[in-house]
Amino acid sequence: MSVSQLAVLGGAPVREAPFPPYVNFGNEEKLAANRVLDSGVLSRFIGGHHADFLGGDEVRAFERAWADLAEARHGISVNSNTSGLYAAVGAAGVGPGDEVIVSPYSMSASATAALVFNAVPVFADIDPETYCMTAETISARITPRTKAVIVVHIFGQSCDMKPIMELAAQHDLTIIEDCAQAPLGTYNGRPIGAIGHMGVFSLNYHKHIHTGEGGMVLTNDDHLAERLQMIRNHAEAVAAGRGTEDLTNMIGFNFRLGEIEAAIGQEQLKKARGLIDQRLENVAYLESRLTGLSGLKMPLVSEGSSHVYYVHALDYDAGITGVARQTVIKALKAELPVTTRRESEGVLIGAGYVKPLYLLPIFQQKVGYGSVACPFACPHYPLVPDYRLGLCPNCEDAHFNRVITHELMRPGMSRADLDDVAAAFHKVWDNLDHLAKEMA
Ligand SMILES: *Cc1c(COP(=O)(O)O)cnc(C)c1O
Repeated sequence: MSVSQLAVLGGAPVREAPFPPYVNFGNEEKLAANRVLDSGVLSRFIGGHHADFLGGDEVRAFERAWADLAEARHGISVNSNTSGLYAAVGAAGVGPGDEVIVSPYSMSASATAALVFNAVPVFADIDPETYCMTAETISARITPRTKAVIVVHIFGQSCDMKPIMELAAQHDLTIIEDCAQAPLGTYNGRPIGAIGHMGVFSLNYHKHIHTGEGGMVLTNDDHLAERLQMIRNHAEAVAAGRGTEDLTNMIGFNFRLGEIEAAIGQEQLKKARGLIDQRLENVAYLESRLTGLSGLKMPLVSEGSSHVYYVHALDYDAGITGVARQTVIKALKAELPVTTRRESEGVLIGAGYVKPLYLLPIFQQKVGYGSVACPFACPHYPLVPDYRLGLCPNCEDAHFNRVITHELMRPGMSRADLDDVAAAFHKVWDNLDHLAKEMA
């Protein structure tokens, strides 16, 4: 059989012309931004007990629109998902000596949110097929100190929330959904974000919809909404005027979103469904071209969950192909071009996602705050947090051995572009024997 030579071994690549950029905004966003500029009011927040404590017209309209879309009572906009997670952990009343259970397979802010309130992040393993924590893995980590859980709908798939909420009711835990990668996701037909007690979304420029930087917290709970609004906007300066009785964690930040971002966000929200549908179509097409490659499994979508594909996570089994994952990725990258405007990131395909979070230096070294290293070695926390390698075997196996992630299915990729992606996989797979020998 004659197969064309792999680019990684000196042959011609499948494609050299760059892939199109992901551009999800247009004239509507420009008009929205100009509307705000013309008004002369770029923000109307006042950090005091005042009619403008809740911000300007665009911020409020954006919050209402998102809350309505997600069937939530309240939307509280913030300037990032990170600040939204901080506000949510604070609103839950988490403090020194408490534990917050969190997924190790997430962006680092999911875990630092606990640290900000001097609480200890406790990592629960993920399911090997959905990459989400489950009620079982969370349950194994519950102690009398557990106060809250941050569930991450990772890669865009909604976690199995029903058993998680039942567990929360049994143990009186606050559930925070990190929805950064799953806007418009659903679980058993219901929008995620207000299934838990609070849900946090990201609007940074990598995400499905964005405002440059930004975020949104949803909740159905009036009391939590008030606390979130306080933490967002200088709680300490507002508490007397608002008659706030419980001052726990009422130390405010400035997490306020600007009016321009809020105006752009309203337009982005209108486009979200269409953008996500394009992702679903692209994934379906790509998967139809990739099925049958030995040792490569397409992501499992659990019954009841939706998947909105922030990334497309493939499961690779080197035991079947006989070729190390890193070798296959190197070969795939050599066949494919970079994506315009993200040239510095190389070809948008890679091994794993982020290292299990407990392996970050902040957890390995447990230095934390000040000379006493709170919360890790705080007088309020008599235990030794466990962050050793081996703590979450499914997460470590997924990250270090199995997962291949890519973003080559975003809106803007044409059928011809997706055909090139598929052709690269087929070319590499046709040459697996050769690759195993040459790269050994
Ligand atoms: C992007 C992301 C964040 C952080 O979002 P920012 O808006 O950049 O703060 C947090 N968690 C997850 C899972 C993310 O993907």
